[in-house]
Amino acid sequence: MFFKQVQQHGDNFSYVIADKDSREAAVVDSSFNAGKIMQILKENNLVLKYVINTHGHSDHIAGNPELRSILKAQILGYNYSRARFDIGVDDGDIIHVGKVLIKVIYTPGHTKDSISLLVGQKKLLTGDTLFVGECGRTDLPGGSSEEMYDSLNKIMKLHDTVQVFPGHDYGNARFSTIGAQKHSNYTLKPRSLEEFIQFMNEP
Ligand SMILES: [Zn+2]
Repeated sequence: MFFKQVQQHGDNFSYVIADKDSREAAVVDSSFNAGKIMQILKENNLVLKYVINTHGHSDHIAGNPELRSILKAQILGYNYSRARFDIGVDDGDIIHVGKVLIKVIYTPGHTKDSISLLVGQKKLLTGDTLFVGECGRTDLPGGSSEEMYDSLNKIMKLHDTVQVFPGHDYGNARFSTIGAQKHSNYTLKPRSLEEFIQFMNEP
């Protein structure tokens, strides 16, 4: 599998995932710099099939129209997302990129349309749900601390060795693991739902 974390404008991350045999590729969160993504695809002789949105915030999808019109990629987004997409996905769906399998895990809380993506059982792309040492904010439109609580619990059930690749470079490292986050991320400390909501409401 080809897997590349791309530092974008500011602290956004894009990801390029591809099957080395078929050369089929997917981009997760095009962010602002479609040109940089096209360069990586070209350098590695990859054919873009899908652009997958972790959620519809503009800092994650700004490059989509360019990738769609120039490379004819199809945009994948959560079924009920208000952001533009060509193919809707839902919890448990499997996206095929050549032989690489990407499982959709619905993780609302930061937004109603937030998904996390489990790539080849080993790498979890968490968008703005979980960062290294932080979780996503829930005070924007469509945000919900209650849903964030369930979503974090859901992804913490994955194996400790699964690597966490966030949507922003907010932490002391560019990626981590579920096990390491369980121990070091203060937002994941054991809390009841009430305690978590109170915690998220603290300034
Ligand atoms: Zn966001």
